[in-house]
Amino acid sequence: MKKYNFNAGPSVLPKETVENTIEAIRDFEGTGIGLMEISHRIKEYEKVVADAAALFKELLHIPEGYSVLFLGGGASLQFCMVPFNLLEKKAAYLNTGVWANKAQKEAKLFGEVIEVASSKDANYTFIPKKYTIPTDADYFHITTNNTIYGTEIHEDIDSPVTLVADMSSDIFSRPIDVAKYGLIYGGAQKNLAPAGVTFVIVKDELLGKVSRAIPTMLDYRTHIKYGSMFNTPPVLPIYAALQTLKWLKSIGGVEEMYKRNKEKAALLYAEIDRNKLFKGTTAVEDRSLMNICFVMNEEYKDLNDDFYKFATEKGMVGIKGHRSVGGFRASTYNALPKEAVEALIACMQEFEKSH
Ligand SMILES: *Cc1c(COP(=O)(O)O)cnc(C)c1O
Repeated sequence: MKKYNFNAGPSVLPKETVENTIEAIRDFEGTGIGLMEISHRIKEYEKVVADAAALFKELLHIPEGYSVLFLGGGASLQFCMVPFNLLEKKAAYLNTGVWANKAQKEAKLFGEVIEVASSKDANYTFIPKKYTIPTDADYFHITTNNTIYGTEIHEDIDSPVTLVADMSSDIFSRPIDVAKYGLIYGGAQKNLAPAGVTFVIVKDELLGKVSRAIPTMLDYRTHIKYGSMFNTPPVLPIYAALQTLKWLKSIGGVEEMYKRNKEKAALLYAEIDRNKLFKGTTAVEDRSLMNICFVMNEEYKDLNDDFYKFATEKGMVGIKGHRSVGGFRASTYNALPKEAVEALIACMQEFEKSH
């Protein structure tokens, strides 16, 4: 049976990414050696890293003065690397969920942290909008897409101080104005590549300003200087990321991707709103294009497990909601075809008819 992969991460990748990577594992660029067995210092591989960084810059229209890095450690290591490199005295954080919280917790090890606003009391069902960013903060940190709760900041925020964003689960899903950000980071395993590589887009001039000593591996300047090759980089995930970026370019870039993502999300949210069995879990204006959360309506809540079983039998994979939200979460990342959303909607409609 055909399976539709709605996993929240690691998650669906373009079939071109998977197929090209399989081929490279057998024979990397005609070298006669497999991708997992080559030296990362050969020129053919150096080109992979350089091409991936160049495509980041091209697809996101990154202005001059920024570096693109491919590191290890996941987005979670960035929770500490960001304040290590940028926090001298004080940083501001917007608390929109578990990941935002974890980022904030690490920053407290390095200085004063101001939580400008939080939607914790409402189980993070909306993005706070009325808050003041302290103008004496070293930076303001946001999580643009809240993977667990299905909320998303849809616009690039105007911040009076350096804006730092965790874009783990919505990078390349919509056009962004990189110039508004000082630093953007994310784990690649949601929209780009298999787990193991973390991307960082950083404005060079922000670095070297804090007074503390920074361990070599945690200093962004090390990785800028060595082009993400100070130590052995995550060779295979970077190769896979390059394939995803090439695919993205071939379909028309981030602008076309955004169109498709809006279309997929609109279809599914319309069904959630129409279907008598289901309801959405978040404020309508903050609904994520990437993680679509829904639960059974109160009078049908006993059907939760039945629907899960029904949908699973029809080939839907990974739709169980996070334990802190319950119900269902369909992750509709870039590589998820519209056909998958249509199959899920068909499931919801068929289930509705029999109840
Ligand atoms: C998945 C996720 C993370 C954690 O990423 P790791 O690479 O596992 O550390 C952080 N932030 C957001 C928004 C995420 O979706």
